[in-house]
Amino acid sequence: MARVIVLGAGVAGHTAAQHLRRMLPRQHDVIVVSPNSQWNWIPSNIWVGTGRMTKDQVLFPLAPVYRKKGIDFHQAKAVAIYPEGLGPDSTPHVEVEYTSPEQKGRTARIGYDYLINATGPKLKFEATPGLGPDAGHSLSVCTAAHAEQASQRLAAIIDAAKSGRRQRLVIGMGNGTCTCQGAAFEYTFNVEFELREAGVRDACEIVYLTNEAELGDFGVGGMRFKQNGFFTTSQLWTESLFRERGVKAISGAAVTRVDEGELVYETLDGVEHALDFDFAMLLPPFCGQPIAAYANDGTDITDTIFAPSGFMKVDADYSKTSYEEWSAEDWPRTYQNPTYDTLFAAGIAFAPPHPISKPRASAGGTPIAPAPPRTGQPSGTIARAVAETIVDRIKGRDKPAHQASMADMGASCVASTGADLMHGSAAAMIMYPVVPDYRKYPLTGRHPRHTRGEIGLFGHWVKHMLHYLFLHKAKGRFGWSLIPE
Ligand SMILES: Cc1cc2nc3c(=O)[nH]c(=O)nc-3n(C[C@H](O)[C@H](O)[C@H](O)COP(=O)(O)OP(=O)(O)OC[C@H]3O[C@@H](n4cnc5c(N)ncnc54)[C@H](O)[C@@H]3O)c2cc1C
Repeated sequence: MARVIVLGAGVAGHTAAQHLRRMLPRQHDVIVVSPNSQWNWIPSNIWVGTGRMTKDQVLFPLAPVYRKKGIDFHQAKAVAIYPEGLGPDSTPHVEVEYTSPEQKGRTARIGYDYLINATGPKLKFEATPGLGPDAGHSLSVCTAAHAEQASQRLAAIIDAAKSGRRQRLVIGMGNGTCTCQGAAFEYTFNVEFELREAGVRDACEIVYLTNEAELGDFGVGGMRFKQNGFFTTSQLWTESLFRERGVKAISGAAVTRVDEGELVYETLDGVEHALDFDFAMLLPPFCGQPIAAYANDGTDITDTIFAPSGFMKVDADYSKTSYEEWSAEDWPRTYQNPTYDTLFAAGIAFAPPHPISKPRASAGGTPIAPAPPRTGQPSGTIARAVAETIVDRIKGRDKPAHQASMADMGASCVASTGADLMHGSAAAMIMYPVVPDYRKYPLTGRHPRHTRGEIGLFGHWVKHMLHYLFLHKAKGRFGWSLIPE
């Protein structure tokens, strides 16, 4: 009998747990440890953030799904990993602290044969003074609760605009090192749509504020693609989308402070600017969850297992230090920890070897460059590959580990406006591969036909379909495993 523990019940962890349970006979245990009692389809938080969907439409309770599937669920957070056990006769285990109302604060040790770290990002609001909805002055759409708060504030802005008071809305990145530009871009589109629908667009200024040196970078170094038979760039494409909608863009900017109604940002030329606002939805930078690691004798080995960012080290090449040296081959394939071969990381939890976009800093030395995104599709695909590797090992199959490199993987980003089927539009970007490979595609780093940008109602339908499809899959309903990650 083997026991697999999955830390995290987000896109990656939930996918891994579902596939492990599907592939492993019942004598083997699949355990999920996660502090949240509900699963959140995070991409649809954008629609919660404009009031087009309710929180309940993007959340569902995990415990009944796990009970039905035969997955043991611990509503708890991992605080430390002991990959060698602790002391004589001890075996690998993870220390957890329960978060459910019934057991809050209780700690326990759970032994494992294989451990998947799928703990996603810690939302690092504290990186910028005054950032965030809890202890700061800005809004977020990273969680369903944050998104609900943002929608309430947006409704107040619309009321104020209706009463004749001009409003400024700032949407974008709350720090020079943020990732997830696609989410802020999509939220901008949706807010602009809502203001038009409410008849107050002329009374509102929308500013998109980003750490991308050029619009359309999206943390993947931008894209060059074909549209209607012509080559264009994601920069031109994004700029024209913003121009058509009258959105003012500020790029190459690092927000350094957020006060009540005013933020301060520094641009690449080192100049500091102040911008007052009535509404600011600013995403936080991400880092790994605070999980420690200890050797058998109690020595702290956190730095051996985790990168300084807090994300887990895997089979990537972390040795290269300059942009000129970086290549697609540096990216991990198996997501196995190099020190402990029973440890894996999936989704945002793995440490990328380096950024994809060119790193930049302001004249004053403030880093202003997007961190590499790990969106839902790669997160799910990686999780499935890791689950398949573990199943092979448990079943004693002598096979190489399954691979899912982001340099061999495509991804799509659909930024859709509105939540109504006939009334909306979407900007869809499809790229292959996510990490550009200039050896294979010397001109653009990506496949010229499989990298595209499209605008229209069709993408909007796709985004809707994904909402229902992924909730169906995550609930483990009929045919779930046939729906691709
Ligand atoms: C607003 C927004 C919109 C987005 N839109 C899109 C989109 O349209 N398309 C797309 O592909 N991607 C989108 N993304 C990105 C997508 O949400 C992420 O790629 C995906 O959620 C990553 O999955 P993950 O499992 O790595 O992390 P998460 O989904 O964040 O899951 C992490 C899990 O780990 C748990 N956890 C945290 N700490 C611990 C701990 N100590 N111990 C155990 N468990 C822990 C968390 O509670 C959570 O369950 C969006 C992101 C945001 C913020």
